[in-house]
Amino acid sequence: MIPPTHPRYESLRIREMLAGGFEAGAVAAEGLMAHGRGEAFDYMLGEESTITAQRAAHAAAAALLLSAKPVISVNGNLAALCAADTVQLAEAAGCGLEVNLFYDDIRRRRVIAGMLRRKGAAEVLGTEEDRATLPGTDSPRRLVSARGILAADTVLVPLEDGDRAEALAAAGKRVIAIDLNPASRTARAAHITIVDNVVRVMPRLAQYCSQMTQYDEGSLRAVLGAFRNDTNLAESSRTMARNFGGGRHA
Ligand code: ATP
Repeated sequence: MIPPTHPRYESLRIREMLAGGFEAGAVAAEGLMAHGRGEAFDYMLGEESTITAQRAAHAAAAALLLSAKPVISVNGNLAALCAADTVQLAEAAGCGLEVNLFYDDIRRRRVIAGMLRRKGAAEVLGTEEDRATLPGTDSPRRLVSARGILAADTVLVPLEDGDRAEALAAAGKRVIAIDLNPASRTARAAHITIVDNVVRVMPRLAQYCSQMTQYDEGSLRAVLGAFRNDTNLAESSRTMARNFGGGRHA
């Protein structure tokens, strides 16, 4: 147990959650390493949700609410870190939930689906035999659910790999990514990238979607239309550079 008074409490608490997810069979060993890369970018970001990230989350909420068939792609890291917030977001935005793994494994898919169900998810796709192939990616990474990602118009991909983000965009999906690295292929391939930690983004997105269900379609379109991903990514990179170039960590 980490004492809450430890100066790096939050960061260490997140590591503990991932280690627990690994022991439970939800997180892949490679997922632990991917988290390490994310941690470094979060450190540069200042470990807080910037105004830039909040603006992207606002656009993402508008996009989800405007979609006819939005789906959240869930992997082991996301389930270990924020299963409850993911289920709440799915409810608030009317999204489907699909377990979709880079390092695919049916046992891991079932463990992750169980974690979502225990937090109240009524239906979790991606564990049964409705498998379809997404064009443009290598097997087995192209496996998706026919009723989920294949049929979706918008896919929220927290922690996605660049190839698959590109393939989803090429397949005509609106792609919303959450990625702490503003220079990753995922961040650049997505239509909306929230450069922030999933642990902060998922509850914020659920809250925005609950509030914005009051908006009419024109207002949602205005929020979405005002968003520019390239500008937003550049601003996130500048924030990191500022923080390291004589800012808070210097
Ligand atoms: P890409 O294929 O998009 O260029 P990559 O190969 O650099 O990405 P991966 O190893 O596929 O990255 O996945 C790790 C990515 O996930 C990193 O960009 C990292 O910043 C991000 N990441 C890890 N943990 C988190 C987190 N908790 N919240 C948000 N992003 C995260």
